[in-house]
Amino acid sequence: MQLSPQRLLGFAFASADLLLEIAPEGKIGFAIGASEALSGSAETALVGRAWRDFIDPRDRPMVEALLSGLKDGGRGGPVVVTLAGSAGASERAASFTAFRMPGNDGAISCAFSRAVAKVMHGLHDKNSFEAATAALIATARATGQELELALIELGGLGALKKLLSPEAAAALDQRLNGALRAQSHGGGGAADLGHDRFAVVRQKGDGVDALVQRLIKLVAIDPKHGVAPQARAMSLMGDAAPGQVLRALRFSLDSFIKEGMDAEPSLTLDEAVSRSVQRTLVDVGALGEAVNEKRFKLVFQPVVNLKANAALHHHEVLVRFGDNASPFPMIRMAEELDLIEPLDIAVVEQTIARLVADPKLKLAANISGRTIGSPAFVEAVKSMLARTPEACGRLLFEITESAAIDDLAVADRHLKALRSEGCLICLDDFGAGAASLAYLQQLTLDIVKIDGRYIRELQHGGRDANFIRHLVTMCSELGVKTLAEMVENANAEEAVRRAGVDFAQGWFYGAPAETPEQPAGAAVDTLAHVKPAARRMGSVEGWG
Ligand code: C2E
Ligand code: MG
Ligand code: MG
Repeated sequence: MQLSPQRLLGFAFASADLLLEIAPEGKIGFAIGASEALSGSAETALVGRAWRDFIDPRDRPMVEALLSGLKDGGRGGPVVVTLAGSAGASERAASFTAFRMPGNDGAISCAFSRAVAKVMHGLHDKNSFEAATAALIATARATGQELELALIELGGLGALKKLLSPEAAAALDQRLNGALRAQSHGGGGAADLGHDRFAVVRQKGDGVDALVQRLIKLVAIDPKHGVAPQARAMSLMGDAAPGQVLRALRFSLDSFIKEGMDAEPSLTLDEAVSRSVQRTLVDVGALGEAVNEKRFKLVFQPVVNLKANAALHHHEVLVRFGDNASPFPMIRMAEELDLIEPLDIAVVEQTIARLVADPKLKLAANISGRTIGSPAFVEAVKSMLARTPEACGRLLFEITESAAIDDLAVADRHLKALRSEGCLICLDDFGAGAASLAYLQQLTLDIVKIDGRYIRELQHGGRDANFIRHLVTMCSELGVKTLAEMVENANAEEAVRRAGVDFAQGWFYGAPAETPEQPAGAAVDTLAHVKPAARRMGSVEGWG
């Protein structure tokens, strides 16, 4: 059988739309195929140009790493690349594979086939990496590919970067990002997990030690700088259900982020699934017990009225399990496992008990967006307040955005019922989630609490100051007060005051404490001695 050029080209075009050859000095020496359709330039216009001109700048470090990592007979990719000059609305992308044919004078044969434009041109963070990896696993199952998760620690890299000039550190980052992406499946499966730890989804092949050596070489880290690379792999094969896969990935990444190479290794996804299930069972047991046996405590953080000399307005109640750590991971788990409503009810019960014990207190309890949709919760609060009328008019609810509110109409009915019992309603974490504006529009609110991230940024001026000013204007037109959380210093206070915010909370006035304390250096609430009944309310003013 004769191996004619036609026959060879036939094979090549069976898998690619455009074939290029890159000479050792980086120029395109040969091009054939659907160049115009793929790249917008004719084949003839490509020859003689540098390959870099053909690839979008954001993807050049990845292609660079892929090409320079090839030995004779070695293959790189496929990775999805964006082609140069196509950024914006009509991005053109191609799946790219490179092969270094022995005896071809060091030239690299490249094949491009059209691909769906991608959105990622850098490294993922943990959350987006989990989702991207779960999607890659699902596709790999359908196509029978064998993928693995490589967890890589480059100990001392952060310290090394601190010794470099900012430009040199940025260049190192760029090389590292390119090299990690070039090693990843499809070019979009690499993540920076912080603290010199990285993760890559890749096709099973040579061991992770070889992978790490390649990275070090590509990134050109001098061995004398003492960066200590370590890696391990976990097979991503198996038949766990998608929800389990995601949980197992999260579990494996969390333990790697927390403990690095000391974390107990899972060799397969199934092993990670069973570890994460065991861990969840332990956590659920602990959470269930904490709720049932009321094994949690409450801490109190002052909220001040900026329009009244920063006098105490009320305290926010925050839950603590065992230690003083943030309850946020537990709250998220409780929300996922449908344990949040009993927890919220238990917290409200203890909050009311505090109000009864101390007639001068006013307290705000956090309620999950999930709980507020429950008629049973509203009934429970109503009957508690019916038993303790002295607590009426001193209780505020903060609706948190850690879980989305499913049905706004139902939630609003419930909020109105709570308001008619004399409670105030505050929307927590405004601006943190995508739905904040819809909540503001459709829920009956007394106060909007602006998410702390805006307040912390505010001290440095910039766009957030405008955002907050507009928000304050919008809220005052709607008759809703505003509250700034995470006010940590006098600068932040000055900034939120200038923006017209009504209330403030944060370390500047006092951290959460086991007994409700007066805010640092502030005046005493002038209405504290007014009979509670006289404050039975409907408005924030009637409150203090
Ligand atoms: P959140 O309701 O937005 O609470 C504010 C968080 O900011 C609290 O964290 C508080 O300790 C912290 N903080 C207060 N002042 C400052 C400051 O000046 N700077 C900084 N950096 N942080 C400050 P915490 O206690 O860890 O609570 C985290 C989240 O957990 C809360 O966010 C809330 O969403 C949720 N949570 C807490 N207790 C409960 C509860 O009883 N029920 C429900 N459903 N959620 C709760
Ligand atoms: Mg809150
Ligand atoms: Mg908040």
